[in-house]
Amino acid sequence: MHFDLIIVGASFAGLAAARTAASRGLSVAVVEAKREAGARVHTSGILVREAIEEIDIPHHLTRRVPGVRLYAPNMRSSDLVSPGYAFYTTRTAELLRWMANEAKAAGAHILYATRFEGAVRCGDVIRLDGIDLSTRFLVGADGARSRVARTFGLSLNRRFLTGVEVEIEASDAIDPRFLHCFVNSRLAPGYIAWAAPGPDVVQVGVAVRDGTKPDLAAFMAATEAEFGWAAAKVVGRRSGLIPCGGPLSRTAAPGVLLVGDAAGWVSPMTGGGIRLAFQYGRRAASAIADHLQSRGPAPEAVLARALPGYALKTLLRRALDLAPANPVLNLALSTPPARRLAERIYFHRRGGGGIDREAYLRWLDAEAAGRVGTGPRQV
Ligand SMILES: Cc1cc2nc3c(=O)[nH]c(=O)nc-3n(C[C@H](O)[C@H](O)[C@H](O)COP(=O)(O)OP(=O)(O)OC[C@H]3O[C@@H](n4cnc5c(N)ncnc54)[C@H](O)[C@@H]3O)c2cc1C
Repeated sequence: MHFDLIIVGASFAGLAAARTAASRGLSVAVVEAKREAGARVHTSGILVREAIEEIDIPHHLTRRVPGVRLYAPNMRSSDLVSPGYAFYTTRTAELLRWMANEAKAAGAHILYATRFEGAVRCGDVIRLDGIDLSTRFLVGADGARSRVARTFGLSLNRRFLTGVEVEIEASDAIDPRFLHCFVNSRLAPGYIAWAAPGPDVVQVGVAVRDGTKPDLAAFMAATEAEFGWAAAKVVGRRSGLIPCGGPLSRTAAPGVLLVGDAAGWVSPMTGGGIRLAFQYGRRAASAIADHLQSRGPAPEAVLARALPGYALKTLLRRALDLAPANPVLNLALSTPPARRLAERIYFHRRGGGGIDREAYLRWLDAEAAGRVGTGPRQV
């Protein structure tokens, strides 16, 4: 079978790209090693608002979480909000199944339980090893350790955070208005621990820098007094590697392009990659359609112009990798500039304008208690 475009990986980047490419009229196949989209989810699946805007995710697959409660190692916390902005936790497996259905509805073929092992280029055609498939263009959306990248001698991710998470039934363990983020160089060296109110479960996790092992049990034991995790039933686990070295340099060969984690499109600071997978997965598909249908420029050149720089976030990643001592973090996080920096990192200065912060927090409180009032006053 011959296609205009074969995409390896039916996850956030691959499915977003498949839907766009099929909608643009390309014949598209997606090759996925798992038996279905959404099997063995390895991500927390928390979306920034921009991700929701990118592909209009159905409301019932998400839960809106307006703020961030940031804890210093001494467990003093600050509430970070930006009126108008929110994060969204997800029914992640269902979200991926929905994306697969959208791609199929647009005309893409998805071949599950089919592993990409390698490929060779013969003139203008790329033939996949061991599968009777060939394509004009191949996209590697196959994650942090991309086989497509290795096959075509492209750049590989070399720096990772390692994350582990449990899903627990504990509806009242945490304040549902917030993503609870814990900065602690002993329990989460190089990154953070978190507790997030998912649509159905609470997700508790920790991620750490290269060379260290995440110890979620130690984090949960250390915060047991505040949250009482021990009483909750564990109903799921997720874990995986998060590339944190920033976008890779060589992500394309003739007729081949990497997208998503395979291309290192993950914020080095926050570890978030889903929005970038949606946004640039779609952008890549559009650029490939322009290239194949209208002799448009090389897709990698189009993407290189569109991708953001990560200077500040890369710098902050280096600082976090040093895992400053907890007393230093306690001191730093108690200062207003640190809170402003944290708000900038979490909210990118979006939302906000003209709403009184304290009134907004009270309004969120009332909303959580089911007593929605007239809303915060404009100032
Ligand atoms: C523990 C953890 C928590 C995270 N939390 C968040 C978060 O809350 N928010 C956020 O924005 N980001 C988060 N991330 C990052 C985010 O999950 C990734 O950036 C995102 O999943 C990247 O999507 P992708 O489609 O590029 O790759 P992936 O989601 O990794 O998908 C790759 C797909 O390719 C398939 N595949 C791989 N090799 C082959 C092969 N040889 N043949 C066929 N198929 C193959 C895999 O089965 C998989 O389906 C987290 C990551 C981890 C590990």
